[in-house]
Amino acid sequence: MNFKIAVLPGDGIGPEVTLESVKLLEAIGRKYGHTFNFEHGAVGGNAIDDFGSALPDSTLKTAKSSDAVLFGSVGGPKWDDPKAKTRPEDGLLAIRKGLDLFANIRPVKVIPQLIDSSTLKPAVLEGVDFVVIRELTGGLYYGRPQKRWTTSRGRRAVDTMAYTEKLVGRVLRVGFEMARGRKKKLTSVDKANVLETSRLWREMAVEIGKEYPDVELEHVLVDTAAMQLVRTPSRFDVMVAENTFGDILTDEAAVLCGSMGMLPSASLAGIPEPGTKALGLFEPIHGTAPDIAGKGIANPIASILSTAMLLRYSLGLEEPALLIEDAVGRALSDGYRSADIASPGDTVIGTQQMGDIIVSLLG
Ligand code: NAD
Repeated sequence: MNFKIAVLPGDGIGPEVTLESVKLLEAIGRKYGHTFNFEHGAVGGNAIDDFGSALPDSTLKTAKSSDAVLFGSVGGPKWDDPKAKTRPEDGLLAIRKGLDLFANIRPVKVIPQLIDSSTLKPAVLEGVDFVVIRELTGGLYYGRPQKRWTTSRGRRAVDTMAYTEKLVGRVLRVGFEMARGRKKKLTSVDKANVLETSRLWREMAVEIGKEYPDVELEHVLVDTAAMQLVRTPSRFDVMVAENTFGDILTDEAAVLCGSMGMLPSASLAGIPEPGTKALGLFEPIHGTAPDIAGKGIANPIASILSTAMLLRYSLGLEEPALLIEDAVGRALSDGYRSADIASPGDTVIGTQQMGDIIVSLLG
């Protein structure tokens, strides 16, 4: 089959890790007889420099006409001026909105080979395998007004957390569907004791839950969820949370897996039927890691696992997705480690080498 993949590497380590994913897709193409046509697009800080926009129209057009979007990461100190009119992150928010990708799926599975890389005790990490679904198109990141101003009594700022029934309902449904395909347990995260948006969220979770009598629904306040994530993370199966809560909880969850460099994600407009195609955006959850950018030492595994999700969710190709996940597991079993997941005494390899080893293990 022929597929068009939009490749938006972004800034910092984004291009370094994305390159390894492209290499991997080329190898999958050779193995299974698929052709991947890659079309590159600018996004983030480098797009601001070259085009004056964090998401040039041409990039959005390329993304919209593709089967899937492979995304790196955006941002960095060069573009951090708080007074700047455009910020690299605007590109990411705009593409999610532009493609109406409202559900960010973030699997958190502790790989036994890396149990020692985490700062948590091995007993806490045993059996951890859950998915966080983060709402992507509403809440604080999009709500208006969002501004800063000066009054006679000093500076003031406001952000707005806003949600509609439509935004809440569609992401909750993704949560229920995902839970139905797993252990049938959905944890809905909110702050219903304080926030009105959370009370709407909880009310709708109960209403929609009636359509899924086979799924056990629990409500957990976001502060309690943050605590349980490091105390008893194996209790979770599927978690669903609004935009900001999901953003914060998944960075915390990355600690369970040993490094930010291990966690993939998929941004979708719903869960596609198995075997069907549906445009999605696939990216590691980490940022541009300015502290290690350009050194060739970034861990490409989060991007590579995002590529497995791309094959599964956007192209309907389950077998190569499983093959990639298996190759990552075997590379780790064979003792290969990038710097971020290495323990004392391990042989440390760079970004490119890790990519090459995983490609070679595809068989
Ligand atoms: P970060 O994820 O870039 O880095 C946090 C820490 O994790 C750093 O020490 C970094 O070296 C390490 N790390 C991250 N990915 C790694 C990898 N693949 N291999 C090895 N180590 C890795 O978060 P940050 O430092 O808070 O943010 C840096 C920039 O990235 C900021 O401009 C931020 O806005 C941006 N950012 C972008 C995205 C995105 O594009 N989706 C997400 C988060 C942050």
